[in-house]
Amino acid sequence: MTRPARSGLDTDQVDTLCTHLPLQREDSAVAPSIPWSATFVAEDAQDFARMASQPRHPRYYTRYGNPLHEQLAAQVTSLEARDAPGGTAAHAGLVSASGMGAISTVLLGLLRAGDHVVAQTNHYMATAKCFSELLPRLGVRCTLVDQTDLSAFEAAMTPETRLVMLETPVNPTCAVTDLRAVAALAHSRGAVSVCDNTFASPINQQPLALGVDVVVHSATKYLSGHHDAMAGVVVASQGLIERLWPTQICLGAVLSPMDSFLVLRGLRTLALRVRQHNRIALELASFLEQHPKVERVLYPGLPSHPQHALAASQMSGFGGVMNLMIAGDYAATQRFVQALRLPAQAVSLGGVESLVVHAAAMWGGTLNDAELAVAGIAPNSVRLSVGVEAAEDLRADLEQALRSV
Ligand SMILES: *Cc1c(COP(=O)(O)O)cnc(C)c1O
Repeated sequence: MTRPARSGLDTDQVDTLCTHLPLQREDSAVAPSIPWSATFVAEDAQDFARMASQPRHPRYYTRYGNPLHEQLAAQVTSLEARDAPGGTAAHAGLVSASGMGAISTVLLGLLRAGDHVVAQTNHYMATAKCFSELLPRLGVRCTLVDQTDLSAFEAAMTPETRLVMLETPVNPTCAVTDLRAVAALAHSRGAVSVCDNTFASPINQQPLALGVDVVVHSATKYLSGHHDAMAGVVVASQGLIERLWPTQICLGAVLSPMDSFLVLRGLRTLALRVRQHNRIALELASFLEQHPKVERVLYPGLPSHPQHALAASQMSGFGGVMNLMIAGDYAATQRFVQALRLPAQAVSLGGVESLVVHAAAMWGGTLNDAELAVAGIAPNSVRLSVGVEAAEDLRADLEQALRSV
């Protein structure tokens, strides 16, 4: 069991929650040490019996738990649940080797053959594959709906619907889902609502406080923030985490002690970084939107985003990712991406360095033209993950690259 966060300190201030490790240290070092061990020694025979029967014991066997897993789960729980009903104490977390490790634990842990799921037409690609291939293969029926259409969620619900999967803002189009309304709908029908909060981070959006039951993260992105670790996290009520636990140990997507350390290190500056991403991305999005070589910018922080009012009602900042459409064809878009000097052409997002991908090239290998159109990916779509470089340098670089369009 996760011990209460920062015993004796009762705060919901994200700067404090990020800066201080939540759990008491076992030695006097300020930074956590990395427990490089797959297994842990019991004090005596009775202690061994206790270790073997306690779920998520932090010093038993690393697939079951590890001191840094416990620390990381507690820290993300304190951030995600700080304003949720029951607060941090009513919630718990699980860590996984990747975002997909976290998402598959939730889906396979809560669903069985005969169940029905409602999910969005647009999701992170591997999440979408769970609904188009993995779950149907196991006898779970999935209905995909336009995330911007509340009535579509309502129409898709059946008596067998056990889970509603949400992702907002969504990868890569930055469309937004109404978390309060869909969570309330799911509750009224007895289904569990799950939100992938990777794009927003708990600094900008807290789905649990808006009524969602389960939050999942690719901690590979903003939570770690440096493009050097892979990890996933689930945060939910204590009861739901207990339900997921047996599946987690079967799936075996074990977070390594080193990556646990790296994500904890990244979390120390999460609030600082995310505020900087928010500020720079909004500034660049406003600049790009006015540029004649840019056809359209989709960024939830821009008043021109079709769901800006909704985004502003459930987010306190809008993150670093935007979807821009270049005023040109596929080849012109390739020239633009190629001419950029600061953002590297690489998948992933949410780190301190800006990264860019030509969306149609990234997804063109797996989706046909019709599927690309449904996913909102045009030949001229570019996903830009704005880092924390100087805004004027990024702006100058974007400006020079747009000359080659
Ligand atoms: C990257 C990503 C994932 C998958 O995370 P991994 O750590 O790569 O497994 C899931 N959801 C979103 C929104 C992502 O951006």
